[in-house]
Amino acid sequence: MKINLTKKQKLNNDKHNCGLCGRNSKTCQKTECCGNWVCGNESDYVMFSYSRDICCRNHRRFTLCGLHYTEGHDGDWKDCKKCLNWCEPEMVAWYGTNEYNFEKHPNPPTFEPTFCVQCKKVISLSMDGYTSFGKEYACEKCMSDGFEFKK
Ligand SMILES: [Zn+2]
Ligand SMILES: [Zn+2]
Ligand SMILES: [Zn+2]
Ligand SMILES: [Zn+2]
Repeated sequence: MKINLTKKQKLNNDKHNCGLCGRNSKTCQKTECCGNWVCGNESDYVMFSYSRDICCRNHRRFTLCGLHYTEGHDGDWKDCKKCLNWCEPEMVAWYGTNEYNFEKHPNPPTFEPTFCVQCKKVISLSMDGYTSFGKEYACEKCMSDGFEFKK
């Protein structure tokens, strides 16, 4: 059997800059959704670590581009109505404009801030911990202070 070593070596030395964090890494690969270079391996993710260091995972899981592709929507994600209605507008806006995007959504949905039913502080749905019950939201602090939703 003939093994083409030169080709293999060439592949291994083929480093690319990650389009998100700029790291020059051998682990860089092209995203399936938009064909941009990203670093990292999904398999490096440690379950429940909530690590956001793996660029390929971040892009696939936390952007509209990735969601649009995984859900099998048609057309361009920036024109996609399904993506816009996929979740609360605040989350859609975050998915469309966060730092895991190569391109930001040109018209992210506008949204009213979400307030904690207990302490009335604004909860950032993308950044803060919270618990929701129906249309009500409670922040992490109130939950840990023993707040319970009226059922
Ligand atoms: Zn990266
Ligand atoms: Zn993409
Ligand atoms: Zn879509
Ligand atoms: Zn609260």
